[in-house]
Amino acid sequence: MQTTIRVTLWMSLLLTALGAHAQSRPAKGGKLTLPEALLSRTEVEVHTRFLASDELQGRRTGEPGNRTAARYIAEQFRLLGLKPAATTDNQPDFLQHINLEKAKTATSATLLIGKDTLQLGKQLIVMSGDPTNLSGEVIYVGYGLTDGEDGYKGRDVKGRIVVAQGGSPEAKSPGDIIRAAAEKRKMATQKGAAALIELYSEATPWGFVSQYFSRDQLTIATSADGKAPITHLWVNNANNQYKQLKEAGQTVTLRTSGRPHLTTSSANVAGIIEGTDPKLKNEYVILSAHFDHIGVGAQGGSAYQSTDSIFNGARDNAIGAVALLESAKALMQQRPKRSVLVLALTGEEVGFLGSRYYAEHPLVPLKQTIFDLNSDGAGYNDTTVVSVIGLERTGAKAEIEAGAKAFGLSIFAEPAPEQGLFDRSDNVQFAAKGIPAPTFSAGFKTFDAAIGKYYHQAIDNPESLDFKYVLRFCQAYAHAARLIADRPTRPQWSAGDKYEVAGKALYGQQ
Ligand SMILES: [Zn+2]
Repeated sequence: MQTTIRVTLWMSLLLTALGAHAQSRPAKGGKLTLPEALLSRTEVEVHTRFLASDELQGRRTGEPGNRTAARYIAEQFRLLGLKPAATTDNQPDFLQHINLEKAKTATSATLLIGKDTLQLGKQLIVMSGDPTNLSGEVIYVGYGLTDGEDGYKGRDVKGRIVVAQGGSPEAKSPGDIIRAAAEKRKMATQKGAAALIELYSEATPWGFVSQYFSRDQLTIATSADGKAPITHLWVNNANNQYKQLKEAGQTVTLRTSGRPHLTTSSANVAGIIEGTDPKLKNEYVILSAHFDHIGVGAQGGSAYQSTDSIFNGARDNAIGAVALLESAKALMQQRPKRSVLVLALTGEEVGFLGSRYYAEHPLVPLKQTIFDLNSDGAGYNDTTVVSVIGLERTGAKAEIEAGAKAFGLSIFAEPAPEQGLFDRSDNVQFAAKGIPAPTFSAGFKTFDAAIGKYYHQAIDNPESLDFKYVLRFCQAYAHAARLIADRPTRPQWSAGDKYEVAGKALYGQQ
């Protein structure tokens, strides 16, 4: 479906009025070709109303409504003529399937250490495992992440209860600590241990982690040699009160209900628009937006009422997914010089699962991926702007500003700095690999009551959207994407940025 739409005279006058003339290229006969200017408000509304419909049940990762959303996006890619970027059973496919494990919550657990009885939630958390009733001597393995002297070396842990220090020498964020925990579990499982107890003394308060793990958890499937994960506990050791667990000869008794384990699946959706320049087409710009949301009722973790318990996620992030669809349409109609990977991501709301999976299983080489323009947002409270997180850091400020300006919008950079938003969406998974990756959000300057009213609330319905603004938001995104994909040079991280080193490692010193 590659048609060049010739812009009529009145349209070119309108574009001139919008300021688009500054960035659009005149085609033969002096007429403008700019398909993003012709995107339809009705179409934007149709896509949004479907993706944010009650029937999709809040698009929760691993649930049927989420898979339906992925299917819808994939079939739109097919209709637009994108090239499938993934394969399934050796056949080209728009869906990049991801196997997931779902651990239900534990209902009971105790750990006896001498005279102390530790209780579920209060002093301990069950991370994984089947129902268990087990006594024995513990064996300490440091962080439990290596085969070295400070780890498993010289220690036969088969059938034993292994004790490890929480976190890792490098772990800082809660995400790092959770990832380290998964690594430890995998290693202890491979070593044949019967159970793993981690001594938690990290900065994130115990009350917070305890509450977090009292909900169902979804993770990317990481079974060690196909074995089910072993019993894994976290013990609150904030004041080093259970240091005796590090000592040889200490015996414990642990009983847990286990965490029933289910497998499920989800998918990223990925399609390619091939670039027109013989050289630059080997470079890729990723356009990403997550299409998942938080589900229904208690799944969402936010307050809801019986009259409306569906978290439709119109703002977060159906409109971002629609911006992808509309950009794909405009960029297929007039392809840019570089290739574009249009990537609708799953699992953002449950720990960036889709973008993390993509970063480890890229569909085009990461070092040929020069930029990611991510779109995500909590909502908007200013329809004169688009807000961009990371604008000043990622080297494409001029194109992003011109993209917005062409549709009568200005850019507001770095909204709500206190929220640390750069590291709170999928863009960070690309940034961590070294790819400059800002997030393009619907207009807001502060995280005020107008944002909070909708953010992760059941009221975030499509009916309450200003579709005139959503159309312009999509157009601005598409046009910024085009300008970046057409740039003669690659965008670069700002000097001294915390991801600059990763960028140099990925692309080589330039
Ligand atoms: Zn979001």
